Amino acid sequence: MRYDVAIIGAGAVGCAIARELSFFKLKVAVLEKSCDVAFGTSGRNSAVCHAGFNNKTTSLMARFCVEGNRLMEGLCQDLGVEYRKTGKFLIGFDEADMRTLEALVEKGKANGCTGLQIVGMDAVHAKVPGVGGIGAMSSPNTAIFDTFGYTVALAENAKANGCDFYFSHAVKSVSEGPDPYRFIIDGAIEAKVLINSAGLFADKVSSLCGVDGYRIYPCKGQYYVYDKIADSTLQVPVYPAPRPGIGGLGIHLTPTIHGNVIAGPSADYQDDPEDYCTTKPVLDQLLSESSLLLGSLRPGQIIASYAGIRPKQAPPSQGGFMDFTIKAEQGRKGLVNLIGIESPGLTASVPIAMHVRDILIDHQRDFGLDMQARENPIRTRKAPVRFASLDREEQARLIKENPDYGTVVCRCQTVTLAEIKKAIDNVLGCRSIASVKYRAWPTTGRCQGGYCMTRIVAELMKSGLKAEEINLRDEGSNLFWGQAR
Ligand SMILES: Cc1cc2nc3c(=O)[nH]c(=O)nc-3n(C[C@H](O)[C@H](O)[C@H](O)COP(=O)(O)OP(=O)(O)OC[C@H]3O[C@@H](n4cnc5c(N)ncnc54)[C@H](O)[C@@H]3O)c2cc1C
Repeated sequence: MRYDVAIIGAGAVGCAIARELSFFKLKVAVLEKSCDVAFGTSGRNSAVCHAGFNNKTTSLMARFCVEGNRLMEGLCQDLGVEYRKTGKFLIGFDEADMRTLEALVEKGKANGCTGLQIVGMDAVHAKVPGVGGIGAMSSPNTAIFDTFGYTVALAENAKANGCDFYFSHAVKSVSEGPDPYRFIIDGAIEAKVLINSAGLFADKVSSLCGVDGYRIYPCKGQYYVYDKIADSTLQVPVYPAPRPGIGGLGIHLTPTIHGNVIAGPSADYQDDPEDYCTTKPVLDQLLSESSLLLGSLRPGQIIASYAGIRPKQAPPSQGGFMDFTIKAEQGRKGLVNLIGIESPGLTASVPIAMHVRDILIDHQRDFGLDMQARENPIRTRKAPVRFASLDREEQARLIKENPDYGTVVCRCQTVTLAEIKKAIDNVLGCRSIASVKYRAWPTTGRCQGGYCMTRIVAELMKSGLKAEEINLRDEGSNLFWGQAR
């Protein structure tokens, strides 16, 4: 198969680039080693739309984060993705913290953030009672959103404009072809331009293309997930004042768009880019640090833990943040590398995609592309039905229309059979429990799938999969080895 552009990696960044390029008359393919979108870092983070005050002024991180924050609400509306502007408090525990926060207000202003101000604890307590500290910085433009739904929506929108997705396709070799199809991927897919948005593996993919010299240092962040207590305890994310040198933003408490509260993330460098295990010592540390922020949290309210891994360019000896590297490589015509897309990569994903689009426009002659805008491309996507969030009247109407809305499959989150079926019948394909979870949100409540998992398996089997083909997430995480009888 021949393409104008091949994108490696279907995280939020790869999918945002695919969507942006799908507005042009280009043949675009996305190759992803997992069986779905958002199985990498894009599905394992704090799900916060940052305002942009943390990053170095003049950095790409600051520029794209501020721009992403400005665009995100409209984007989520267009793509039917859940989004809520909650604001955020950064808490100071001593005078040194307060000076850090004052400096952060100034940095934020220089970066183009609006509304930042220092507030007293009374302002914090009016929104989040019980938070410790002596003062805070308020960031009114910070938001929370559904990052899984966001990545799925970007990909669906790209697909609707003709972009091809190849899942379970780990790119293993990239050889050089004759102009203009300079990239031959795994001997099968040819492309004029290769966009490397492979996250934690971007250094390796760059090497496959003949450009060495990058190194990603994986840095794990672990989280606890609390039950649906956000409404009663925490509707606004609270972060500690940042401390220099750590590889993250400090352990914070964040309400999720689905009503849970998450505590984390830690920041520990490790060698393995895919070791997502959570460990007791780190989780204990999360408990004690998060109880400093909010003492009313109880261990009995914890229902799960998870980890995400930052693709850092800053080595452990240096720590902190290094700016995104996004560039057309001189040494390999047509290769656009995206390296070190750590936080705020989600918030920044669409401005990053626009930047990549502009790189392709600037180099179109050299790369053999014709960047003509498509006439009337699709830019929106219909939001999936969330039965649990509807009022009784609307629920009754839906059940009358489709009785599958009357069968609850996930009792913890009130996800109906109709929503599960729609998730499975997805344009991108849906072959794992995690894919159904990302689209309809079952298995995420207190019982963690104890009740609904087998029912989802049954629906996946009705869609044509054999039991042994059904994975929890990726290849090798199959739930069954075969038919017992
Ligand atoms: C703990 C933590 C908290 C964070 N919190 C936030 C936050 O609150 N707000 C925010 O804005 N950002 C946050 N981030 C950052 C954000 O999650 C990332 O910047 C963003 O998700 C990066 O997206 P991506 O598409 O570049 O990478 P990924 O989502 O990792 O996607 C890369 C994809 O490439 C695929 N791939 C790799 N190698 C190959 C190959 N050889 N062939 C085919 N496919 C391949 C992978 O499977 C993966 O799906 C956080 C990150 C972490 C780790």
